Amino acid sequence: MLSKPKIIEKWQKRNRFGRPGTTLITKKIAIHYTGQADVEGWQTVSYFNNVVANGYKVNGKYVYASSHYVIDLDGTIFQLIPTSEQCYATNSANKYAIAIEVATTGEDNHYTDETYKSMVHLCAWLCQYKGLDCKTDIITHTDVVGKAYKLCPIYMVKNPHKMTQFKTDCHNLKSGKITLDNIINCTSPDYIKNSSTSPLPKMIKVKKDVNYRKYPDFKTSSIAGVAKAGDIFTIVDLVERNDTNMYKLKSGYYITTNKTYIEEIY
Ligand SMILES: [Zn+2]
Repeated sequence: MLSKPKIIEKWQKRNRFGRPGTTLITKKIAIHYTGQADVEGWQTVSYFNNVVANGYKVNGKYVYASSHYVIDLDGTIFQLIPTSEQCYATNSANKYAIAIEVATTGEDNHYTDETYKSMVHLCAWLCQYKGLDCKTDIITHTDVVGKAYKLCPIYMVKNPHKMTQFKTDCHNLKSGKITLDNIINCTSPDYIKNSSTSPLPKMIKVKKDVNYRKYPDFKTSSIAGVAKAGDIFTIVDLVERNDTNMYKLKSGYYITTNKTYIEEIY
């Protein structure tokens, strides 16, 4: 059994803007980002508990917002709302989702090693506690509201393979395949260097005309253009997929790793 992570309780008072006291039957765990990189999590806690909960207006309208948990840049986990009650974070999923707001760092809003470890520990433990499946029941805010409404948490939405890795890490911790000490932060800029996976090629050369894509998938809708035989591209990341893996190019586009189409240059 996975132990409960250390949690600092900062209970929000009952109020109509963030803690209405309605019952929550948990079916999903939704992760969020606080919206601005390098803002400490305790400030988010204070905003919910000391500002929003007292009635806070933006453009003349009351803000309704809260979160069950907030994870700080140093990995501290705060809890504001009991998991038996609904919060206001995930729109239509408030009825069935526990919400976790997570502080982010850097231009791309990735996670510090301490934050990532706490995210995995908390989500894995919540799945154990609530009888949920880490691979299917941990979701993003965007999974609920769609990309046009909000990219949240922005790093995970823009790097879906990292979200998959995160869920795998939660699953592996919950099932005892890994321990807390060997959680590796897959969102770290150093991840490829530090991980045991084979090194990335510096570039690839196209052997046979092949599509490059807006997203790391092979759907028709993600086609962005055609890479011509002989073209050379710089590689910045590897996207691990259930079927064929893809490389992320410096341009931000994705291309297959299938050796029929490309040749790797190290
Ligand atoms: Zn959100």
